[in-house]
Amino acid sequence: MVGRMAAECAIDGCAVLAIGRCRECGRAFCMSHQAHNEVTGAGYAALCIQCLQRRRRVTGGGDARAEARDVAEREWVTSGQASLDLYAAGVAPVPVVERRSRFVKQRLGRPREEIDELEVGALWVIGRFEWTEMQEIPETRAWTTGLLAHPSGGYPVTMVARAVARCKVTDGLATLIRDAPYGDSWTQLERREIPRIAAAVRSLIAASPAR
Ligand SMILES: [Zn+2]
Ligand SMILES: [Zn+2]
Repeated sequence: MVGRMAAECAIDGCAVLAIGRCRECGRAFCMSHQAHNEVTGAGYAALCIQCLQRRRRVTGGGDARAEARDVAEREWVTSGQASLDLYAAGVAPVPVVERRSRFVKQRLGRPREEIDELEVGALWVIGRFEWTEMQEIPETRAWTTGLLAHPSGGYPVTMVARAVARCKVTDGLATLIRDAPYGDSWTQLERREIPRIAAAVRSLIAASPAR
C-alpha cells in the first residue's frame, strides 16, 4: 500500500499544507483558503474560500437600480427604522422568552427542578426564510424567522442577519432557535433572503389596520 502524503492546498496553486477538503469542489485547502462564517469568524470544516465566494455571486447580480434599492432596504432594516415603523404602524411584537432551569433544594430528597420563563425581548414573525447550516455538509432549509425588536447590542446592527433570528412561536410566545448558547455559529441566513425579508416587513406594515 502506498503511504498517503499530507495534502497540499489546491486553491490558486497555493500548495501550503492543507487543513481540510472542500465538500463542494473536492479540493484540499489551507488555513488561509478556508471559508469563514462572516458573522462569527468561525472556519467551515469543509468549505473553501472560493466556493463561498461563488455561492455569494450566484445569489447576487442584477442591475444597478435594483441593487441601490436593495441597499436602501437593507439599511432600513439594519438601522432599526423598520422596527420603529412596525411600532408606529401599531404592529405588536411577540414576546421572546427564555426558559431557565434551576434546582431548588428540598428538605427531604433530591433538589427539584424549576423552570423559570423570562421575557428577554420581542420580535415580529415575518415568515419562513432559508438558513444554511454549515456543518460538514451545508444544508439549507426554511425556518420561521423573526425581526428582533432589540437585537443584542441594539440598533443599528452591521448586517440584516443580526436583526433577525430563527424562532419558534407557541401560545403567543417566541423562543429563539440558536445553534450555540449565545447565538448562531454554524447557521447563516441565505443572502438572497435579505430583500425578501425587507419586503415581508413592508407587507406587515401595509397590512396593519392602524395604518
Ligand atoms: Zn471549494
Ligand atoms: Zn492555500
